[in-house]
Amino acid sequence: MTRAVFLDRDGTLIEEAGYLDRLERMAFFPFSVDAVRVLNRAGFKVVVITNQAGIARGIVRESFVAEAHRHISQRLEAGGAKIDAFYYCPHYPDGVLEQYRRECDCRKPRPGLLRRAAEEMNLDLARSFVVGDRWHDLAAGHAVGARAVLVRTGLGRKDEIDPHPGTVPDTIVDNLMDAAAWILQQP
Ligand SMILES: [Mg+2]
Ligand SMILES: [Zn+2]
Repeated sequence: MTRAVFLDRDGTLIEEAGYLDRLERMAFFPFSVDAVRVLNRAGFKVVVITNQAGIARGIVRESFVAEAHRHISQRLEAGGAKIDAFYYCPHYPDGVLEQYRRECDCRKPRPGLLRRAAEEMNLDLARSFVVGDRWHDLAAGHAVGARAVLVRTGLGRKDEIDPHPGTVPDTIVDNLMDAAAWILQQP
């Protein structure tokens, strides 16, 4: 079984942009490509896990999410880095589009997408890591026995000073590059 690093997308791998709905609004951090490459070379599967409630809310088309993920992949590939898989939750309990309007098991903090990835990719969750800028990212990781890193990019600084009961990050670092460095030092 392979170890994985599950990356949140918005605010962690790319800049937080509210509901990202156009490629022109997508901005990479200067360290994004290097951080993913470091994790690739260390033998981790790198998997993006993202809540995309904008789909259920009718703000973002599901086809755009696929396009955005292709764009991210191409940008990383050009720098010798690779996302092994993207998983997203399109649901929202109060969504306007009926086909996506529901309580699901895959919207973080629920760990459904991590479990699905583990099953499909033969991942060892207990030896894996989650990196995210929100408490719900970390909670999803802890729910499956993974270690969880809070980054201060995106909304991370805000969440750092507003602790979430029951969710204690394994570490808090400035950004994804520092998270990758910390992960590589762990047993
Ligand atoms: Mg985020
Ligand atoms: Zn869902």
